[in-house]
Amino acid sequence: RTAFDAEQVRKDFPILHQEVHGKPLVYLDNAATTQKPEAVIQAIVDYYRNDNSNVHRGAHALAERATEKFENARVKVAQLINAAEPREIIWTRGTSESINLVAASWGRSQLKAGDRILVSAMEHHSNIVPWQMIAEQMGARVEAIPVGSDGTLDLSALREMLDDSVRMIACGHVSNALGSVNPVEEIVQLAHSVGALCLIDGAQAMSHLRVDVQALDCDFYVFSAHKMFGPTGVGVLYGKAAILEAMPPYQGGGEMIETVSFSGTTYNQLPYKFEAGTPDIAGVIALGAAVDYLQSIDREGAERHEQDLLEYAEAKARAMPGITLVGTAARRTGVLSFLMEGTHPSDVGMLLDQQGVAVRTGNHCAQPIMDQLGIPGTVRASFCFYNTRADIDRLFEALIKAKQFLVEE
Ligand code: PMP
Repeated sequence: RTAFDAEQVRKDFPILHQEVHGKPLVYLDNAATTQKPEAVIQAIVDYYRNDNSNVHRGAHALAERATEKFENARVKVAQLINAAEPREIIWTRGTSESINLVAASWGRSQLKAGDRILVSAMEHHSNIVPWQMIAEQMGARVEAIPVGSDGTLDLSALREMLDDSVRMIACGHVSNALGSVNPVEEIVQLAHSVGALCLIDGAQAMSHLRVDVQALDCDFYVFSAHKMFGPTGVGVLYGKAAILEAMPPYQGGGEMIETVSFSGTTYNQLPYKFEAGTPDIAGVIALGAAVDYLQSIDREGAERHEQDLLEYAEAKARAMPGITLVGTAARRTGVLSFLMEGTHPSDVGMLLDQQGVAVRTGNHCAQPIMDQLGIPGTVRASFCFYNTRADIDRLFEALIKAKQFLVEE
């Protein structure tokens, strides 16, 4: 078993090799967006240089080439997550749009007054607000599945919330604020046990974990290309074909129709029914390149390497006086969230940036869990397989300097 070679992998990411404020960049904001390997950047450039054309309509060679690459990306994503068929992959603009699509389309056609939608207390706003919006329209309710102060989802509390008024459980696979890995297999089973559907928000999982939607048996799985080494502006909605078939269209326009007349319009088949208008063709093709890239690296080794980074960083944090970890669930990945005594997270973030270390500060679009913990936010260092122990060393050197500046002077 050879060690994962992070130094080698770093070479694939041109952006990492630069100085910020006169210091070599240490990029620890991967939960916000991951960097892009050269192959992804090249796919975007190649598309616009050689293939640019609209998809599915043209009667010429360029349109055929663009369509083939575009549809090939769908096959790649289907294979990556082990979807049963490529038509179960719907292109969206991102995780947020994927959830809005399901909430609006499924919710409008299925929800009735008194129905309940359960989301975990540590969800990203994207997996709360779309449900609140549709619940308000339909007379349904959104309720929070309790989460312990360490960031562990309370499965026994979830069991007690279940009855046949629950129609949907929507839950993150990995928390962007705390790094908790949720027991999604059990959550899907619990949803199905009362006849509810289950949507898993995989935005933070795709870069860290290998996902098999058929093994999970989730009804929907959603994620963003930009958090898995692809471009911004493209996202994925995976849904079981039978469920997607039964859902009405989300937006109307070109591509999503079969025939249009003023006496009535019929809709296209999956996946096109949900893809109104000209999509981000270059972005989809570049996501396909990101999938190829992921398939080309040692994923198991990358997971072990990321776990090592998290443990290394956690040990350093515990050894540094004045640091409190936020989120210490037994199963975590990718995220070290913390507070420094006597400081505000945004001041810490600014001082880290001055030393070339990029982190995120604030509530991480997860205000309910921050409110529950009684804190305004955290400093969040988020890792990826191209980070190294040297990056973590730089983070803690910078934290010590920030502490001297903010607390000890
Ligand atoms: N869910 C989670 C868990 C996330 O981390 C994010 C992005 N921070 C989103 C949803 C929203 O993703 P996007 O902004 O790409 O739509």
